[in-house]
Amino acid sequence: MTDLRARVERVVREVVAELTASGALRPGPAPETVGSRTPLVAANWKMHKTAAEARTFVAKLRLSDGVETVLCPPAVLLPVLAAALPPGNPVRLGAQNVHFEAQGAFTGEHSCAMLRDAGATYVVVGHSERRSLFGETDHDVARKAAAALRAGLRPIVCVGERLAERESGATFRVLRAQLTASLAGLGLPSPDPATLVVAYEPVWAIGTGRNATAAQAQEALAFLRDRLAELFGHAWTRGVRLLYGGSATAKNAPELAAQPDVDGFLVGGASLDPAAFGAILAATAAARRGREAG
Ligand code: PEP
Repeated sequence: MTDLRARVERVVREVVAELTASGALRPGPAPETVGSRTPLVAANWKMHKTAAEARTFVAKLRLSDGVETVLCPPAVLLPVLAAALPPGNPVRLGAQNVHFEAQGAFTGEHSCAMLRDAGATYVVVGHSERRSLFGETDHDVARKAAAALRAGLRPIVCVGERLAERESGATFRVLRAQLTASLAGLGLPSPDPATLVVAYEPVWAIGTGRNATAAQAQEALAFLRDRLAELFGHAWTRGVRLLYGGSATAKNAPELAAQPDVDGFLVGGASLDPAAFGAILAATAAARRGREAG
C-alpha cells in the first residue's frame, strides 16, 4: 500500500513537472527569497574524533542564537554527544548515512530506528563521498531519504556537480537530474517543510579549500529551490532549508550566508574545530540579522 501510494505520488509529481516545464501549468508567484526559514548549520565530522575529543568539542563550542546547529559525528558517537550535551540544549544530532531497510542481514549498517534511538534527528544522505567512494546511486539516495522520512528522521540530501561537469556547462542539468532522482518517491510535501533539507555541495569544492563563490552558490541554490517548487509547490518549498557545502570557513561564510537562498551550511573540515565552527555559526546568525534588517 505504501509502495502504491509512493508510486502514485511520484507519477503525479512527474506529470505536474512536465506540465509546468511545457508551460501548460503556470507556476504560482515566485517564492519570497527571504522567508521565515531558520538557518541551519550542520557539522559533518566524517570519520574523525574519539569520544573524548567529541566531549571536548561540545564543551568548547559557542552557539549562536537563531541558528539551528546540527552535529553529525560518526554513528558510534551519537550517544556520546547526546549524553555530553546539557539537558535542554538546542543542538540537534545527525547521522552521516543510513540503510534504507528497517532491519536485516546488512553487516556494518544502521537503520533509521537505530539512529533515532542513538539520538539523531537528521541524517545526511547522498554525500559525494558516499556516492564516489561507496558507489551510492541516486536510487539508493532516494530510498534512504524516503526511509528516513518514514521513520521521522530529517534527511539532508546532498547534490552537486563535478568539476568537469561545471566546466562543460552541465551544472544545471546534473543538479536537476540528481535532485529529481534523489527525491523520487518521497511522501512530500509533508505538513512541515523542515522535514527536508537540501545541500548543494559542488564536488570540486569539498575538502579542496576552493569554495564556490557567493554568486555560484546563490545561482545553484535558487535553481534547486525552483526545481523543488516544481515538484512540491511554491508555498511548501518556501519553508525548505537549502545549505551550501564545500570548503566553507569563517572567512567565506559571511558573504555566502548573505545570499537570499543560502539558509546555512554543511561543513566538513572547519567543523572539526569548535572555534572555527562557532565562527561559522556566528557569521550565519549575523548574515540573517542583516538580511532581516535590510
Ligand atoms: C562536506 O564534507 O560535506 C564538506 C562540505 O566538507 P568541507 O567543508 O571540508 O569541504
